[in-house]
Amino acid sequence: MVTLSRTLPRLRRLLRDPVGVISRRLNARVHPSHNPDLEKLSTFSRAAEQSGVQGLHLFLSFDSDTDMDISASQDVHTFLTSLGIKMTLAVPGTQLRNGAKTYRFLSESGVEFINHGELPHAKWQDDQYVSTTFYNEMSEAAVIEDILNAHQTVTSICGQAPKGFRAPHFGTFQSPDQLQLIYNVVKKLGYTYCSTTSPNLAHRYGPVIDMDGIVELPTFGSFRSADSILDSWSHLTDRRNYALGSLYGDLMVETVDVMLSMKMSGILSWYADPCHVAGQESFERAMRHIAKCGIPSLSGHKAARLAPTPLRCTLGQHERES
Ligand SMILES: [Zn+2]
Repeated sequence: MVTLSRTLPRLRRLLRDPVGVISRRLNARVHPSHNPDLEKLSTFSRAAEQSGVQGLHLFLSFDSDTDMDISASQDVHTFLTSLGIKMTLAVPGTQLRNGAKTYRFLSESGVEFINHGELPHAKWQDDQYVSTTFYNEMSEAAVIEDILNAHQTVTSICGQAPKGFRAPHFGTFQSPDQLQLIYNVVKKLGYTYCSTTSPNLAHRYGPVIDMDGIVELPTFGSFRSADSILDSWSHLTDRRNYALGSLYGDLMVETVDVMLSMKMSGILSWYADPCHVAGQESFERAMRHIAKCGIPSLSGHKAARLAPTPLRCTLGQHERES
């Protein structure tokens, strides 16, 4: 018999987080050995160890694309610092200017800033933000100009030159030619790394990839969906007032637990938008779990140096082989 004492808390949970409760029901915990994506994580881990990465690490980065992200970046930094977790910030140049005081303070507090282009990535339309500035719709010269302008802006506002780069809406700029263009430009600027690719590259080459003289740190998925970026936008249950579903944190916790239990190595390269995760229970629970598990966190340029012998990827080759 179902008692009232068990029903009421369930009802409360359902009212508080309907999408999270329903998704947990639909996505009941998957046993590691029954997950088809396990092989991808195993290959990722073997490639990590081959390149010299031992154990699990965290590289947590944030895309601060709107004005709402300015104070949220500060809030997330305060929270993560209390757990000893490092953050890396990707802020378009126009937004660095809008939040110059906050971002300069964060830079002085030790937060690493990467070049994320100069033009804005979101604009307010009707009653919500919509995405803007897609490199795949711009000329090669305009892309190069955007990267060079942002280099100047980061350097002047943060007080030091960036060492890493991520393209705006990078999922739309993934072809070998597009990536090669980025790598060529940022190599000339003296950068050591980019984190501008989706997770599938990491399944073959591991978390730190040598792209002919520049390191790529691909973004990471989850145990249940190794190919999909585990980002905060996809897990918002309210996209106007920004509420983050429980599943987001559940997937992080589950991925960490599975990889630790199977003694896998690698870098959990996850990113979020600060205003989606600041003060959200789902994100904070996952971060507390990561800290409790003792997973070391690294800023981007340190993650890029983690592998003494990164595997080499010749652009276009992985496509021809698969
Ligand atoms: Zn962005």
